[in-house]
Amino acid sequence: MDEMEGRVALITGASSGIGRAAALKFASEGVRVALVARNEARLQEVAREIRGKDGEARVILADVTREAEIERVVREAVAAWGGIDVLVNAAGIFGTGTIETTTLQDWDAQFNINVRAPFYLIQRALPYLIERKGNVVNVSSVTGLRAFPGILPYAASKAALDQLTHSVALELASQGVRVNAVNPGVVVTQLHRAGGMNEEAYAAFLEHSKTSHPLGRVGQPEEVAELIYFLASPKAAWITGVSYSIDGGRSQTCLR
Ligand code: NDP
Repeated sequence: MDEMEGRVALITGASSGIGRAAALKFASEGVRVALVARNEARLQEVAREIRGKDGEARVILADVTREAEIERVVREAVAAWGGIDVLVNAAGIFGTGTIETTTLQDWDAQFNINVRAPFYLIQRALPYLIERKGNVVNVSSVTGLRAFPGILPYAASKAALDQLTHSVALELASQGVRVNAVNPGVVVTQLHRAGGMNEEAYAAFLEHSKTSHPLGRVGQPEEVAELIYFLASPKAAWITGVSYSIDGGRSQTCLR
């Protein structure tokens, strides 16, 4: 029997990209997954795919910027399966902007989804995570660890998410709850297009990314899902408070 079989994972951003891939990976290992996002049709599609392979999934529609919806998400997951073993915070948005062009509205929108929602989800799920000595995996970014011009609110929100990860890891370690982050480089998902890049610009961005990632290619959501699963599993029992890069070497590069 797999060591994760029968456990419960609450995964935000499960309708697309990295969150979706994580949901499919966890379910394929026998984990019961609560799928959280706003797009019902896409969430139902993921749930169907999981159930089609004898997995267990529950769709919980929610906008993670709303406190009451986060509270309901946790209540519904616990009511369905009696607890929470793993919280994966993958819901996120991306936007461009510099110190001269970023509006307060852009800043708040990115911080609300990328940092405030993970903070409040961890807080609400905490009694259940403590009860089961569970763990949290936050989906941060290479931009949380390294500076890039032109994506100020996004990078600042991811840096905040990393420090949330490290601080909470220390606060919860004595209670047996681990908290980690993954920090991907460019991964092929809807993120950049949802953030305003058109298809042509996105194609050029992916092409350029071959040169900005030392391994010469961008990543796939499934590769990040494998790392999220590893960090959530007992195989990572002695790992907490890390920001784990998965970026084809990008975080080690420097202009020269
Ligand atoms: P996608 O755009 O493919 O997925 C984003 C997910 O977030 C969707 O499921 C979306 O669901 C959900 N979401 C967005 N806003 C909300 C909201 N208000 N409430 C609930 N759910 C929301 O992008 P990725 O898979 O790439 O993004 C996942 C994470 O990975 C993000 O945190 C992103 O910052 C991070 N990341 C991505 C990288 C990349 O290159 N793709 C690189 C580094 C990090 P819905 O619209 O249905 O609500």
